[in-house]
This record gives sequence, C-alpha cells and structure tokens, in this order.
Amino acid sequence: MGKSYFDLSGKVALITGGNGGIGLGMAEALAEAGSDRCIWGRNEKKNEAAEKKLKSYGHRVLVLKCDVSDEKQVEKCFSETVKILGKVTTCFANAGIGGDIPFQEMTIEEWRRIFSVNMEGVFFTFRAAIRHMIENKIKGSLVATSSSSAISGAPRSAHYASSKGGLLSLIRTLAVGYARYGIRDNAIIPGWIETDMTAEIFANEKFKDTVLRRIPQRRWGVPADFGPAAVYFASDASAYHSGDEFIIDGAYFRF
Ligand code: NAP
Repeated sequence: MGKSYFDLSGKVALITGGNGGIGLGMAEALAEAGSDRCIWGRNEKKNEAAEKKLKSYGHRVLVLKCDVSDEKQVEKCFSETVKILGKVTTCFANAGIGGDIPFQEMTIEEWRRIFSVNMEGVFFTFRAAIRHMIENKIKGSLVATSSSSAISGAPRSAHYASSKGGLLSLIRTLAVGYARYGIRDNAIIPGWIETDMTAEIFANEKFKDTVLRRIPQRRWGVPADFGPAAVYFASDASAYHSGDEFIIDGAYFRF
C-alpha cells in the first residue's frame, strides 16, 4: 500500500464554530480521516452534544467554550488546546453569525456585532495560530469559512457580506505573507447550506421556490458536503495549494 495523502494521523485540527452546522460536518470528516480535534463554541448544550458525537469516531476530542470575539478568551483557549492536544497543524476559522437589516437602517452596534465575530474573531484565531505555527516550525494550514455573499453581495446583509469579503482579502494576504514559513491559507465559500443559520429563511416557501430552482443540483448543501474539503486542506495533499477560494455550492454560481 502506498502513502495515503488523506491520512490525518498525528494531525491536530482546531475548528471554531465546530459544535454544529458546517463546522461539525468538517470535524466529523476530520475524525474519520484520523485527526485529533478541538472544537470551540459558545453554547454549552451544543458543545456537549457535539462532544458526544465526535467521541464516537475515536481519536482525541477537546471541546472548549470560547467566544471568538473576545481576544482574551481566544488566547486562553488556544493555549489550552495546545497544552492538551499538542501542536495545532490546521486551524478552521469557521464561527460566524448573520444579520438581516436594510443598509439605511443599519446601526453601528449592529455593524460591529457582525464584524466582532466574522472578522475580529478570525483575526484573533488566525493570529494565535500563526504565532504558534511559526514558533513551533509547523507547516500548517489555515482555512476561513467565507460566503457566496462575498462575491454576489447580500441585500439586507451588507455587514455580513462585507465581513465575508474581508476574509477573502485576509486569506490572500496571509498566503503571500506566510508562504516562507510553509503556512498555507485558503477560504471555503459555501453556497446555500442547511444549518441553524439558514433554518428560518429555508422555511420561507417563496424563498425556497426561487432559490432552489437556481441551484443546478436542485438541493441545499448539507454540513457533510464540507467534510472532504476540510480533510484535503488538513492533509499533505494540499501542501502546494494556498491563497485560493473553494466554492462549494452545487454549481449555484455557474447557473
Ligand atoms: P451555524 O450552524 O449557526 O454555525 C455557526 C457556528 O458558529 C456555531 O457553531 C456557533 O456556535 C459558532 N459561533 C457563532 N458565534 C460565535 C462566537 N462568537 N464564538 C464562537 N463560536 C461562535 O451555521 P453554519 O451555516 O454552519 O455557519 C458556519 C459558517 O459558515 C459561518 O461562518 C457562516 O457565516 C458560514 N456560511 C454559512 C452558509 C449557509 O448557507 N449556512 C453560507 C455561507 C457561509 P454557538 O452557537 O455555540 O456560538
């Protein structure tokens, strides 16, 4: 048997927002490929349920309560992750929140609420990961979960779309800046995915009729659709792949 490019034995992945939706889909696939995992989330019930599920796959699992918009919590939780699981080789900055308000009614508080998680949370998380990877000479992988709204825009969600667009610029910058350390940086761009975040809008029949018809695969994405890409980015198979944007949307953008 030759080497498996997708064997993640000995790797440690951190997934923010890993207690549900896309993040949990990634964490499950990483487990199947042999990676140890740490997930961060705020909601204790979701954390507990995810821990139970992830433990059933074997390999080490750590679940920490962490609000990524809080710089001190991120620093503390990153240190704890390293202390318990060892060197972090892959970091998925996936935690995110949405909002729904016309631009002309947007308050600065609402704008900052979204940016504090979707941009500052990623900044705190990636900064901790990059410091750790440089210090320990880890040729690691950083992956941000952006959004199709970064490309198409999102009426009533200018703050959300802008924060996700910012992530694409951040990823390009980190890819160029940290290539010399062997650190690679990529973004995943989900289309319309069935998770807690979209539960309300997917329940709207008019929205469903209009949007599903525009997705060539004629179905919503599901969290499991993100597992294989997570495994690829965590694995040595993606060693020369950096600064890119992976669109996973059932060909929505090609229609
Ligand atoms: P989700 O099920 O609501 O997941 C969001 C995750 O982020 C949860 O685990 C949540 O955990 C965590 N989170 C939110 N705020 C946090 C904070 N301040 N600190 C730590 N964790 C926090 O929705 P999802 O669809 O899987 O979203 C995952 C990512 O995909 C997000 O970045 C989202 O913007 C992006 N995305 C989703 C879609 C879609 O169609 N679903 C499309 C494009 C992009 P707690 O509840 O415990 O805080």
